[in-house]
Amino acid sequence: MELKNKVAVVTGSTSGIGLGIAKALAVAGAKVVLNGLGSAEDNAEAIAHVRESCAEADFSPANMLEPAQISQMIEDAEAKFGQVDILVNNAGIQHVSPIDQFPAEKWDAIIAINLSSSFHTMQAVIPGMKKRDWGRIINVCSAHSLRASPNKAAYVAAKHGLAGLTKVAALELATTGVTCNAISPGFVATPLVESQIPDVAAAQGLTHEEAKAWILAKQPSGRFATIEQVGALATFLAGDKSASITGSNYSIDGGWTAQ
Ligand code: NAD
Repeated sequence: MELKNKVAVVTGSTSGIGLGIAKALAVAGAKVVLNGLGSAEDNAEAIAHVRESCAEADFSPANMLEPAQISQMIEDAEAKFGQVDILVNNAGIQHVSPIDQFPAEKWDAIIAINLSSSFHTMQAVIPGMKKRDWGRIINVCSAHSLRASPNKAAYVAAKHGLAGLTKVAALELATTGVTCNAISPGFVATPLVESQIPDVAAAQGLTHEEAKAWILAKQPSGRFATIEQVGALATFLAGDKSASITGSNYSIDGGWTAQ
């Protein structure tokens, strides 16, 4: 098993893409620290799903809005498992509205969770990774790290920022055994996307199915990407065979950003 004895922390991994990545890393042999909003009891199903594949899964309720809770999460992971070898920055939220109506508190929360939390996790894990001369940092960006859409100001700004942070980390760590890459999915059927369908339907005067098709119009494949596909790429980037890949931003978007 390629990731045997590796320890992974995956933020926002109680649902959707993060859970798919956590499961894939566990199947590849890693010990995994899950994270998400709510308590361990609230997230019992997700934790059990990952534990089926690796006995040593743990959970941190750290809120990615809170830098002190973020450093505590990394300290706890190091105390329990000895080290953090793989960091996946995945936690993210969305809010859709035009800039002139965008609530400032939503802007602040999206920048904090989708961008700044990755700075804080990286700051906490990089010293140990450098010391051991091995580490994998994977930032879950988005097609919106490469393209803009109207009404997603904070999300697009945060994801472009995270893509930039990925490149800076790659350059700073280039001579070490630590890599930093981004994965940029197009639309993946997860609760984050499902929650946008009613808003689109209302705004465009469409049925639920029409709203789904309207969303997918950006994606030339006409299909949602899957969490398993994102998990497979993350597992490759987390392994030894990706050692020379750093500073890259991988699209999984059915051709969206080829346009
Ligand atoms: P999701 O809503 O299914 O899951 C989000 C996860 O983040 C959950 O585990 C939730 O508990 C956690 N989370 C939210 N706020 C948090 C906070 N303050 N502190 C800690 N955890 C928090 O979302 P998803 O669709 O799986 O998205 C995951 C990531 O993938 C996000 O960064 C998102 O921007 C990105 N992404 C998603 C899509 C898509 O189509 N679904 C496309 C491109 C990029």
